[in-house]
Amino acid sequence: MPQYNIFVETNVSPNPAFEETLSKFLQLIGQPTRIQILLVIADEPACVCHLEAILKARQAGISQHLMALRKAGLVETRRDGRNIFYALAQPGILDVVRQAAHVAGISGEALAALAVRPVPDCPCPQCNPGVDPDFTCQKLHPAG
Ligand SMILES: [Zn+2]
Repeated sequence: MPQYNIFVETNVSPNPAFEETLSKFLQLIGQPTRIQILLVIADEPACVCHLEAILKARQAGISQHLMALRKAGLVETRRDGRNIFYALAQPGILDVVRQAAHVAGISGEALAALAVRPVPDCPCPQCNPGVDPDFTCQKLHPAG
């Protein structure tokens, strides 16, 4: 007696576009800078100059990654006073990153270490509670 097979009985075939969509999605988040951005803003939104300080990367490069993550609907912007902060729009994405890390043998502590605050030498208001209230990342980088 053959086993009941839902795919045969209901004539369900997997949509061939699904794996392509998933592949594109994993490629989108599968870059070191993007993974770290997602982890940095996991618990608290961050401004560009904080990301710049913690990632030790240039603002132009970070902005490109932020734009890609925003376009994909994973990251959103929030205005706080004169600063723009980047926040997770889809917190569920962290489950993907954390599960991937777990499978890859990376500890939760190691992931958390990527996002520890305050960051030494970071000029942002979160790392420097007493900073000038007019501080903005744009003022720090008038050209950027
Ligand atoms: Zn900071």
